[in-house]
Amino acid sequence: MAELIDGKQLAKKINEQTKASVTVLKARGIAPKLVVIIVGDDEASEIYVRNKHRKAVQIGIISETKRLPENTTQAEILSLIDQYNQDETVHGIMVQSPLPEQIDEAAITRAILPAKDVDGFNPENVGKLYSDSDQNYPVSCTPKGIMTMLKAYQVKLAGANAVIVGRSNIVGRPMAALLLNASATVTVVHSHTKDMSAYTRDADILVVATGIANLIKGDAIKPGATVIDVGMNRDANGHLTGDVDFDSVQPVAGKITPVPGGVGPMTIATLMQQTVELAKWSE
Ligand code: NAD
Repeated sequence: MAELIDGKQLAKKINEQTKASVTVLKARGIAPKLVVIIVGDDEASEIYVRNKHRKAVQIGIISETKRLPENTTQAEILSLIDQYNQDETVHGIMVQSPLPEQIDEAAITRAILPAKDVDGFNPENVGKLYSDSDQNYPVSCTPKGIMTMLKAYQVKLAGANAVIVGRSNIVGRPMAALLLNASATVTVVHSHTKDMSAYTRDADILVVATGIANLIKGDAIKPGATVIDVGMNRDANGHLTGDVDFDSVQPVAGKITPVPGGVGPMTIATLMQQTVELAKWSE
């Protein structure tokens, strides 16, 4: 039976550390500030944004949520981002997705100053990640939080076969770069991959981020593997389920993240941690 990787508990610990860092920074005259821009009234986004705000306030981070109407133009968002880019009291800026279709998401990503890009999506930061730069730069919070979990649970990374299911800019790709930078042997599989389980069965570390409930079953897992389930899907009863079929995978795997209580809380904790890092680096 696989050991549970308790993301909730670990996130609590990280949040305590972040809170302590905020106290130290404030004593030096720096008050970390996060700005979250939300456009339109997507219900799920509203919940995420509210959770982020609540967590930031608990930790002592100044949190501003800027709500814009659904019909906001690209120029209006760009002008707002520019304003926050120039505001020295703001350390982290993020724009909640999804965005309405009149908005070019890539242009928004490029507009956020790399030094305030708390989501780590700006191409300059992505480039640093892929060139394994040793400078301080922000990284997409979900994969960064997964690395924190792997380290906390002493999962051996160097030389491990790591397989990532999904190649999104938010999860799969930055996850591949982080694991490669940690000297794992990395394979990325996706919707065009032929015979996916031939790869997953060889994985010492398996990270699944597809948005397809219960895609990965126990027969696709190497005995003893570490399985990280990024998926957040709602079943018919409205319950949150992952991309991994927990019941058939847990008896085979060595370590596994639950959904909920795994990757989710770590993503928010990492966002807070990274806001404070950006404030520190801005000194
Ligand atoms: P996405 O839709 O951008 O990408 C999905 C990826 O899965 C694509 O690269 C696609 O090629 C791949 N895929 C689709 N069907 C596949 C199949 N049958 N076999 C193999 N690969 C397949 O999604 P995303 O933004 O990476 O998110 C994925 C999931 O993770 C979603 O459920 C999302 O809600 C969740 N998520 C959770 C967190 C968190 O903090 N817990 C953060 C981000 C995303």
